[in-house]
Amino acid sequence: MKPKKKLNLPNPNLVIGVDLDGVCADFYGRMREIAAEWFETSLDKLPTKVTYGLSEWGVDTKEQYESLHRFAVTQRDLFRTLKMIPGARKYLRKLSDEGFRIRIITHRLFIQFFHAAAVQQTIEWLDNNGIPYWDLCFMKDKDQVGADIYIEDSPDNIAKLRKDGHFTICLGNSTNIEVGQPKAKSWNGIYQIVKRRKKLIFLKPSITGVEQN
Ligand SMILES: [Mg+2]
Repeated sequence: MKPKKKLNLPNPNLVIGVDLDGVCADFYGRMREIAAEWFETSLDKLPTKVTYGLSEWGVDTKEQYESLHRFAVTQRDLFRTLKMIPGARKYLRKLSDEGFRIRIITHRLFIQFFHAAAVQQTIEWLDNNGIPYWDLCFMKDKDQVGADIYIEDSPDNIAKLRKDGHFTICLGNSTNIEVGQPKAKSWNGIYQIVKRRKKLIFLKPSITGVEQN
């Protein structure tokens, strides 16, 4: 008997790889409050538009950044007290209800020796903010985790993912002005792009990279 030919259909449960800081959580907003305390200065002296590394706030070296970051996480519960970026809960829940698998992928463990606090605060924040997810990955190289669609705000991560052929939606903010499409200003915009991408994947299964057997 002839073996049955496998259909080249994409997995119906597409995986969305979702970044946390700058995508679900307003990292710089809360960090700005903590930095004002750290430097003993008033909040309005610290600009709201910043770039990676926070030089606009007078953080000049990697060591200074790490000290501020350590203070923020261990003494001010940074990852538990971030504000949610509007729309994250609503649209991730919609996507989850529609069958997408939400995989949180974050690089929050990039400074050593307070991983327990960082992970614990992250899990509590996700539950407290009603963010639906099945997988939680603490990873630097996000493409190692695997997702059909990535949502990111870091220019470096976006460039790397796109270079390797991963469909990556940028959520626009002051750190990624130069990043091109696909890009959205809000979670509503992200939702529309994800839906269009899903249609395209099911129209042309080969774009998922699945080989015909
Ligand atoms: Mg980010």
